[in-house]
Amino acid sequence: MGWEGRTESDSIGAMALDTYDPRIRAARFELEAKLPKEIPLDFDALFPKLTGRGVDKHNRRRVELLVSPAPVLKAALRPDEQVLYALPCVLDVCWVQAFMGAWAQLINRSALVLTQERLLIVHLHGKQPASFVHQVPRAALTKVSVGVFSTVLKLRSRKITLTGLLAQDRKALKAALASSTRGSGDLEHLCPGCFAAHPKHVESSSHCGTAFKSPRTAALRSRLLPGLGDYYWGHRGLAVFETMGSLFTWAVAVALAAGQVPDVNRVTGLGFALLVLAVANGSDALWTRAQGMKGLMSLDGKLPASRSLSGRH
Ligand SMILES: [Zn+2]
Repeated sequence: MGWEGRTESDSIGAMALDTYDPRIRAARFELEAKLPKEIPLDFDALFPKLTGRGVDKHNRRRVELLVSPAPVLKAALRPDEQVLYALPCVLDVCWVQAFMGAWAQLINRSALVLTQERLLIVHLHGKQPASFVHQVPRAALTKVSVGVFSTVLKLRSRKITLTGLLAQDRKALKAALASSTRGSGDLEHLCPGCFAAHPKHVESSSHCGTAFKSPRTAALRSRLLPGLGDYYWGHRGLAVFETMGSLFTWAVAVALAAGQVPDVNRVTGLGFALLVLAVANGSDALWTRAQGMKGLMSLDGKLPASRSLSGRH
């Protein structure tokens, strides 16, 4: 059962039934022991099923998804807010992703956490929260389209594409958000210091003064040597790969400019060299800047994180 339209007597009834089934009791006990105690959550909404094929594994993954971002959620949740659902996803909030394919899949993994009033999106590096936190007020949604390959959350001025969702998560999300679509508001960036919402990218938080990494700095570095901008954002694997590519681009440009390429005179060579650099480095600078416009990243790129992924100690 979902949480929409659930009444007090329904959950009491469900709980009374649970106590008669030892498998359900054991599953509930195991999950409750592993859940982070510091965040308020609605157990029955979060785990609509406790037994059945594949349910155990699925529920354990959901717990794991809440354990590592727990300190972020604790800081971001308002006093009367509860976690109703959590699912892993790959998130696309900007146009650049379409050109990046697999790399985007690696750098946009997120935990999507649903509460009564909003969707909280915590970006993950590996299993740990890092880089950005976003929120989408439920009222900002205009439409939720669920497809086999992607689920699209439509807002008035943008769309958020989620991929990598399991079938049951897709269904649960659609059911949960069905009554939310009013189209007022937009995706907002949360400050990694105080978790206040900022509607646009800013240099520093007007609430707590935390300074953020600058998309302009990233773009300038990429213009010089593509890869440097990605390194600045903390995408190290991508940075190494790109730096090697762009060293080669520079070598070609230098050879052209120095008249070392047969049948190309120095003036034409210099022209070609500038063109090669403008196209390669310029396009990378645009992409690197867009990476940074996605959210507010503290200067060390870190978010509060759990020390352990094995649950509470
Ligand atoms: Zn702040």
